[in-house]
Amino acid sequence: MKQLVLASGNAGKLRELAALLAPLHMQCVAQAALGIAEAAEPHHTFLENALAKARHASAASGLPALADDSGLCVAALGGEPGVHSARYAGEPLNDGRNNAQLVARLAGVADRRAHYACVIVLVRHPSDPEPLVAQGRWHGVIQDEPRGDGGFGYDPHFFLPEEGCTAAQLPEARKNASSHRAQALLRLLELLRADA
Ligand code: IMP
Repeated sequence: MKQLVLASGNAGKLRELAALLAPLHMQCVAQAALGIAEAAEPHHTFLENALAKARHASAASGLPALADDSGLCVAALGGEPGVHSARYAGEPLNDGRNNAQLVARLAGVADRRAHYACVIVLVRHPSDPEPLVAQGRWHGVIQDEPRGDGGFGYDPHFFLPEEGCTAAQLPEARKNASSHRAQALLRLLELLRADA
């Protein structure tokens, strides 16, 4: 069975990734289990950050590696907070403070369109010249009032018109079936099958 390092420290993401990759009969190993520290994410795009994380994990392990990078992009804010989503309100990292910052930046703004973006990258080795790259987007609108206690991050403010609720009110299985991460993963699976 082929081994694949997952370059994430987030337990929820690791579960989700391992479950979705199960049909490919690859043995997924979290980078932390191999003593690999998280890579820096200094870049301006999700793609560059995901690639840096995947390369880092592959170089440290000598194995193929998969990494993702994601965030919230708000149309009226020119795509902010984007790659800065986790640290929008600075240190210490805190979802509540990030959400307060988002609502403050949108005060008086009528256009509330936003999407979550996710880019997933798989490298077969650290200097792979043809990494597999898959993207997903999940569209919604930002509402000032938080609703729901599921999900994480900006989910209580991320209203999904077609669902009639926020991402934090959506059952976990439903989020995992339609989110930006789920969409990107499904596309990556197609690329992996075509590459086999
Ligand atoms: P990362 O991909 O772990 O670097 O996540 C970046 C940040 O984007 C998270 O800390 C959240 O603020 C935001 N984010 C990414 N995906 C989601 C999501 O599914 N729900 C809520 N916030 C998200």
